[in-house]
Amino acid sequence: MSKAHINLESFSEPVRKLTEKISPCTLCPRDCKVLRSEGEVGFCGIADMPRVSSVGPHFGEEPVLVGPGGSGTIFFAGCNLGCVFCQNSDISHLRYGSETSIEQLTEAMLGLQNHGCTNINFVTPTHMAGPIAAAIESARGKGLTVPTVYNTGGYDSVDTLKLLSGFIDIYMPDMKYADSEVAKQLSDAPDYPQVNQAAVKQMHRQVGNLKVENGLAVSGLLIRHLVLPNRLAGSFEIIDFLADEISASTAINVMAQYRPCYTADKHPQINRYPTAEEIDQVRQYAIQKGLTIIR
Ligand code: SF4
Repeated sequence: MSKAHINLESFSEPVRKLTEKISPCTLCPRDCKVLRSEGEVGFCGIADMPRVSSVGPHFGEEPVLVGPGGSGTIFFAGCNLGCVFCQNSDISHLRYGSETSIEQLTEAMLGLQNHGCTNINFVTPTHMAGPIAAAIESARGKGLTVPTVYNTGGYDSVDTLKLLSGFIDIYMPDMKYADSEVAKQLSDAPDYPQVNQAAVKQMHRQVGNLKVENGLAVSGLLIRHLVLPNRLAGSFEIIDFLADEISASTAINVMAQYRPCYTADKHPQINRYPTAEEIDQVRQYAIQKGLTIIR
């Protein structure tokens, strides 16, 4: 975020620190160390200014996030993961979107709230943590009251998450893999399992278990886990981790909607839909371990 676009003096220390972390960029575990405020790009492909691909109410999220007005989604272009089965490759990899200032981001959030949206849902936020925190701070100063949702692929660094403490009400990370070799092959992130588990611990430390009031999530941790064919997602290990190391009643959405997208056809093991049995086994195991199932 260049100083031409944001006067850092008027923001809190965490916002300033998040902003400083992009040059050299150590915002996420990739540690690319590129100078994003000077226009350089790293793995995520985005420099200092957010690129937003869409803003609007979304009714396809979990019912606890939707409500009558929908979840107020803001989709960010670029991504710090390289998933070969990406379902949004035009946004994540081709980076379709428009450059958006902090002021525009702030107005977009307030507009979603005025439209009746239940929350503000930042989709693929990790590489844009600074502008997001700045815009939340600014929007709250102008009357934003709905919960904020950090809807992430789960490849987040603990240091960055610590700086986001207080800005985010609901953390909604993916837990994609439990095996390093699979994470390397499918997302180009061999350290995903340990990074992801450390991130989930930090998120839970900040916001606790998912809290739902009148059928709508107001705060807490909601895990998304996409079941892959051939047990490649390490579902049982992930469920064990949540039950044993986070909380026995962690909220989890065991997602069944995997389909081979993007370049998945080049990977024979994921070039099919998961079977109903593969999905049911994971759901049953999560229930057996006492987790809170969200659909
Ligand atoms: S946010 Fe982007 S540039 Fe920064 S370390 Fe992560 S992938 Fe690299």
